[in-house]
Amino acid sequence: MNIIVLVKQVPDTTEVKLDPKTGNLMREGIDSIINPDDRHALEAAVNLKETKGGKITVLSMGPPQAVDAVSEALAMGADRGILLSDAAFAGADTWATSYTLGRAIKKIGRYDLILCGRQAIDGDTAQIGPQVADYLDLPQVSYVYHIEKVNRKSMVVKRRLEDGFERVRAAMPALLTVIGELNLPRYPHVGRLIDACREKAPIEVWNAADIGVETREVGLEGSLTHVIKTFAPKAQREGEIIEGDVKESVRILTGKLKENRLI
Ligand SMILES: Cc1cc2nc3c(=O)[nH]c(=O)nc-3n(C[C@H](O)[C@H](O)[C@H](O)COP(=O)(O)OP(=O)(O)OC[C@H]3O[C@@H](n4cnc5c(N)ncnc54)[C@H](O)[C@@H]3O)c2cc1C
Repeated sequence: MNIIVLVKQVPDTTEVKLDPKTGNLMREGIDSIINPDDRHALEAAVNLKETKGGKITVLSMGPPQAVDAVSEALAMGADRGILLSDAAFAGADTWATSYTLGRAIKKIGRYDLILCGRQAIDGDTAQIGPQVADYLDLPQVSYVYHIEKVNRKSMVVKRRLEDGFERVRAAMPALLTVIGELNLPRYPHVGRLIDACREKAPIEVWNAADIGVETREVGLEGSLTHVIKTFAPKAQREGEIIEGDVKESVRILTGKLKENRLI
């Protein structure tokens, strides 16, 4: 089974600050990590490889330093890493990101399954998986927390809903977006991490020409949305902490909620 896993490198925080003057993200001093949901996608891919055989390709779009995320994915058990990195890709919105990833997947060619995280902790849109599936005209199942059965033709998975779950059969090839409940990701293999540091890891870096796209189709130029202004919302109200005896605190809290007609 040939599996492609989409991996995004993100800042190791959910509280990204904005530069008040430029509106840009302030990433200085913040470490980068593999997006948490993507580690679960990788673990699922490695599990499938261990039981069904096959090959895992990791695909990431990002700046040159995103090679670290690809290296770590290889150390977790992927076989081939591809980093899409080109100045032309900068400033991409979710449409341009999905299009670029989709074009690279077309170049990779044969695959049975594409796995990605449900949502990135920085961009937070949860749009990439569904958009890539749409671009490639694939069946998609989102919010997957259990992979029940897989064969070359179809798979049965469970997806989490707010108030329950759905059991879905999908024809292969398909794209799944996965959530953290799916599994417990393994630690990267130290020997493979060392190989990556010594630049022995099988990682290719592809630019726009490699995937046959023109500058106007990708990055800021190819984006359908444009950010007019970015700002952090000002806190409008002050919070109140009720301290002391639990019963008394609950009484005060319910009193306040009733007073404000919230219950
Ligand atoms: C107008 C505009 C301009 C932007 N400019 C920039 C910019 O200059 N620099 C910048 O960093 N961001 C920029 N962004 C944000 C960028 O578009 C998103 O971060 C990106 O499209 C991914 O969306 P997301 O983070 O919401 O991912 P989600 O849709 O939440 O991610 C879901 C899953 O998709 C996969 N995935 C997502 N992104 C990637 C990726 N890059 N490579 C591989 N897999 C991936 C992962 O498996 C992930 O778990 C811009 C956005 C807009 C709207």
